[in-house]
Amino acid sequence: MKHEMTCPRCGNLEAISQDECNDWDEINCAECGEFITTCDLQLSLASRHYQMHTLSRSLDLLIAMSNDEIVAGSNQQRFEVAA
Ligand SMILES: [Zn+2]
Repeated sequence: MKHEMTCPRCGNLEAISQDECNDWDEINCAECGEFITTCDLQLSLASRHYQMHTLSRSLDLLIAMSNDEIVAGSNQQRFEVAA
């Protein structure tokens, strides 16, 4: 089975695995044979659930960064008033 992923060693854009992939089977670079990942990890990374999880974490980070800016901004105002 072919997969579209970049090899970290040679930059080739095609990887291969066995046609009937077990969770623990390897996906290797089609050019140099470098181990890239396992079939189980690749399936979970490509799943809609993982993408939603990543989006959710991104939103959490944006909210946390926004709150930090608000707190930092209010601290700065307090500092300016105190100085
Ligand atoms: Zn490679």
